[in-house]
Amino acid sequence: MRGLYIHIPFCKSICTYCDFTKRVSSLEIYNKYIDRLLEEIDSYRNNLFDIDTVFIGGGTPNVLPLNLLEKLFIKIEDVLNSSKENSIELNPELITDDLCKLLYEYKFNRVSLGVETLNDDSIMLLNRHHNKNDIIKAFDLLHSNNINNINVDLIFGIPNTNINDVKNDLNFILNLNPTHLSYYSLIIEDKTILKYRIDNGLIKPIDDDLISDMYDYIRNRLNENNYIHYEISNFAKPGYESKHNIKYWDMDEYIGVGLGASGYLNGIRYYNNTDLKAYFNVFKEYDDKLTINDKKNEFMMLGLRLINGVSISKYNKLFNSNIFDDFPVINKLIKKKLLEINDDNIRIPKDKIFVANIVWSEFV
Ligand code: SF4
Repeated sequence: MRGLYIHIPFCKSICTYCDFTKRVSSLEIYNKYIDRLLEEIDSYRNNLFDIDTVFIGGGTPNVLPLNLLEKLFIKIEDVLNSSKENSIELNPELITDDLCKLLYEYKFNRVSLGVETLNDDSIMLLNRHHNKNDIIKAFDLLHSNNINNINVDLIFGIPNTNINDVKNDLNFILNLNPTHLSYYSLIIEDKTILKYRIDNGLIKPIDDDLISDMYDYIRNRLNENNYIHYEISNFAKPGYESKHNIKYWDMDEYIGVGLGASGYLNGIRYYNNTDLKAYFNVFKEYDDKLTINDKKNEFMMLGLRLINGVSISKYNKLFNSNIFDDFPVINKLIKKKLLEINDDNIRIPKDKIFVANIVWSEFV
């Protein structure tokens, strides 16, 4: 089974840390974009089958007016009806009752809320625009419209914060009982406002030891609250793991449409144009036909993001090859205690997850 990812690259304003493909735009451009997106979806009509997960991400999909969202939903209505998990990313301060009704009508059963932080100073530093009441209201509106599978995106490691700030964010969010939490460590990306401020001494990043302590606190706290830690940054109540995102880590096929989207279909990873003018002319920027070695490396890199790691038997069957012969580095990493074997799985030990990038780099 495949996934379908649809990218809506528009936002109300730009967050200081963000390096995604996004822009602030006008209604005229929204209309033009949706028309173009529908053309791109049409171009995949021969592959729009066997889809069991749909994810509409951004950007901020709910920056679009309801009539444009509905135009998109009508286009993929058959897919939404037959797919098992239909998710959409929403900014909480822009959620309305009418939007929730529309989502329910078109079979959306999972919402991912971009909360990031509840700390007023951090909200300002990141240039987000919600407050605690917006989050409570968003949960109420979603629940009252029968959308109960709710993920909350959070960020830790924000400058000027300490463990207490993480604790306060978690106290607030756990009271709302989301089914899923994606908790990312803030990455200071190039060409962002945050990076500019840090480089110019206006903001000081927090040190790695504190970030590591925050991560430990988050893992323990969520574990105590019955969330399963199933991927480096993702935690779910049992049965609520993101089926769509697991497809990426399992190297399953997915169709990606929209500005800057990527996809993986028939052994080809493709990348769409990230420039809007270019996208209006040609959808794709380039194709990357993966060699067998590329596929093996990706299988390891992506699979080791999962807490359970990669399945030895699945690898051997998929590639008709022996994982230990293909990657002698595995035994070296086991000796260094950076990898371990658990039944059929090779995984990063729990106390080394925070330095997982050292392990991944061995498989590039
Ligand atoms: S809302 Fe999301 S996509 Fe838009 S600027 Fe902020 S982080 Fe980036």
